[in-house]
Amino acid sequence: MTNKNENLFLRAQKTTPGGVNSPVRAFRSVGGTPRFIQRAEGAYFWDVEDKRYIDYIGSWGPAIVGHAHPKVVQAVQEAAARGLGFGAPTEGEIEMAEEICKLMPSIEQVRLVSSGTEATMSALRLARGATNRDKIIKFEGCYHGHADSLLVKAGSGLLTLGNPTSAGVPEDFIQHTLVLDYNNSQQLEDCFKAHGKDIACVIVEPVAGNMNLIKATPEFLRTMRRLCTEYGSVLIFDEVMCGFRVALGGAQSLYDIQPDITALGKIIGGGLPVAAFGGRADLMANMAPLGRVYQAGTLSGNPVAVAAGLTTLKLIQEPNFYEQLSSQTNKLVRGLSEAARKAGVTFCADSIGGMFGLYFAQSIPASYTEMMATDSAKFNRFFHLMLDAGVYLAPSAFEAGFVSAQHDDAIIAASIACAEKAFEQLVS
Ligand code: PMP
Repeated sequence: MTNKNENLFLRAQKTTPGGVNSPVRAFRSVGGTPRFIQRAEGAYFWDVEDKRYIDYIGSWGPAIVGHAHPKVVQAVQEAAARGLGFGAPTEGEIEMAEEICKLMPSIEQVRLVSSGTEATMSALRLARGATNRDKIIKFEGCYHGHADSLLVKAGSGLLTLGNPTSAGVPEDFIQHTLVLDYNNSQQLEDCFKAHGKDIACVIVEPVAGNMNLIKATPEFLRTMRRLCTEYGSVLIFDEVMCGFRVALGGAQSLYDIQPDITALGKIIGGGLPVAAFGGRADLMANMAPLGRVYQAGTLSGNPVAVAAGLTTLKLIQEPNFYEQLSSQTNKLVRGLSEAARKAGVTFCADSIGGMFGLYFAQSIPASYTEMMATDSAKFNRFFHLMLDAGVYLAPSAFEAGFVSAQHDDAIIAASIACAEKAFEQLVS
């Protein structure tokens, strides 16, 4: 008898490519059968077999206040009862924009969209439209969604599938995309010296979360800011993942660097599809209907999704929210490192705010190349041992993990206890 997850996976593969609607969900790199989830609450979700898991992906970031938070659910229900969408403006969208501008002062104006991909794609078009330049700089291992010109040496699912660049992206589309090494300031300087006058923008994850967790060095981001200002290029921080995840003001507040444009997603939708891009008002004035850069969306600023996002943005402003979140994440990371050390497994871990990275390596990677040198086969075994024990980690060695405000001490301790056993089994 196969179990319900296997049955559903077989059924899904008949009508959906690979059985999933986003590649990493398919467990391709870790192997095995994806779990089909039937419900979630707080720090847990349950698969169709009714097996409970401590969830460390939190819907890949959005579930920062925990799954199905009563206040978020209530806001969604109330909004839905008033109508699912109108294709005309609502007050909620203004409130959402005001809240984002208040929390991230580099954002003077913001446009709501429905996915991170749309946010970065539109930010790029804005940068090109505003500068009348074509070239963009991105960094190897940073993932910015699947818009054509950004799908070059990107991270996340592409790394998991061992596929640095997608088929179907014409060479012509990416000839203007310059790909440099993350955390390599000298290379960035040299690139600006050679192409500076043609560079529309630099796009970066200031805390990278799509080649596992890799933090930018302050010097790298400062160099980037200086060069963009000097050459009149737009600096785009892609904070789709790290925005409101690493700190209330995003990575830009931690590093104290103001980008010209910021892309947001995930948390600002509280689990529903809301994303955004925003920044300097003079740049945003280039957007239609005011300016020549076109961008639009039938479901942009959807009232139900905005209700979930706005309520989440209010909840994360409660006193000590980030102190508590960081402290829990830190406890997890320290506990896992200690467990690995005791078992004699080569392992280290890192965290920032509510985001963490686990690496089967001697030291914390600082670049894509270092990340790729970690022992992903070991991670895959560890992943399955943890999964069997009821702890759901990201199903790839190249993804970051996420802790929510509902991961209390008992849940963290239970996770570490599972890891102790898993690490022991790894060496036996
Ligand atoms: N940018 C970053 C930094 C991301 O992590 C992601 C998604 N993981 C995206 C953009 C794309 O967002 P979406 O999946 O909502 O299109």
